[in-house]
Amino acid sequence: MTQTAGRFRFDLTATDGKARTGAITTPRGTIRTPAFMPVGTAATVKGMLPESVAATGADILLGNTYHLMLRPTAERIDRLGGLHRFMNWDKPILTDSGGFQVMSLAALRKLTEEGVTFKSHIDGSRHHLSPERSMEIQRLLGSDIVMCFDECPALPATDAEVARAMRLSMRWAQRSRDAFGDRPGHALFGIQQGGVTQDLRAESAEALRAIGFDGYAVGGLAVGEGQEAMFGVLDYAPDMLPQDKPRYLMGVGKPDDIVGAVKRGIDMMDCVLPSRSGRTGQAFTRHGVVNIKNARHQDDPRPLDEGCTCPACRGYSRAYLHHVFRAGEMISGMLLTWHNLHYYQDLMQGMRDAIAAQRFAAFEADFHARRAEGDIPPL
Ligand SMILES: [Zn+2]
Repeated sequence: MTQTAGRFRFDLTATDGKARTGAITTPRGTIRTPAFMPVGTAATVKGMLPESVAATGADILLGNTYHLMLRPTAERIDRLGGLHRFMNWDKPILTDSGGFQVMSLAALRKLTEEGVTFKSHIDGSRHHLSPERSMEIQRLLGSDIVMCFDECPALPATDAEVARAMRLSMRWAQRSRDAFGDRPGHALFGIQQGGVTQDLRAESAEALRAIGFDGYAVGGLAVGEGQEAMFGVLDYAPDMLPQDKPRYLMGVGKPDDIVGAVKRGIDMMDCVLPSRSGRTGQAFTRHGVVNIKNARHQDDPRPLDEGCTCPACRGYSRAYLHHVFRAGEMISGMLLTWHNLHYYQDLMQGMRDAIAAQRFAAFEADFHARRAEGDIPPL
């Protein structure tokens, strides 16, 4: 229903094997796919100005319903003009439904057919989330891409538990669809569940396709099952979803997870890793992870990655980055976060170019070969 020109649209421009590249068009701008979405949990990507996030090449941010509903509240953000205006980001925003974080962060959860009641991890106050309330909150935030409210069980879980949570999530998907209504220019994504069980993934995909969504997420992965099990699911799960709609892998991941997911037909991903790692002194580079706190960097005048064009690599040495990390200076997290987000967006652009040129296999081989070489030798 929202596939009208100038509203919400997805166009594939090239495929290479199962890997796809294209663009999602929204009234707030175009999202080049495969896309990596930085996470702006509390209406900020920690340590970054929004214009700096945009400068790394990000076309879309992710916001967290659970955090924003508790503080400063969706109603307050709505009164202040919506999340885009509130946080000074005018490009698209995707919001999660709150379901996953209620399960992982909140205390005293009570789950029923109707929804979830829980206590805030901030002040212990009582709150309720349901498909209807989640749709209302995401509408108040002004989200461009809204996610269905679902229940994601932590793995490992029994097949019976995974099946119960999946079937509840499918009933909630219908309620989310009904509550979302007709909102031109805004998209609602369904979320496939079913753990690592192929039959349950198929049943979930069938239920979602029957309801009909603007995009489809592969949910319930990156919750402790490991990369091999995740890739095992991604070998078949994306194929169960419509070819002509975006496919979003939630909460993934490390650079090699991302390359493997794109290879298997995923179009969108999000993860806190580049920003969180930046604050703990870890930098992602073409040669793998660099721990800037390591003493080997203290006299090293070279940049983190000589091939990177980010401000941290253009203007600063490893010695400086090591020093400000050890001194606990704010600029440490700022520079490393900027570098990491830049690296992730470079990785996505490299994959988009490779898919368009039908050379994804060569890109993947080069990606793994450089990482296997490891960091440049110490001086
Ligand atoms: Zn850099």
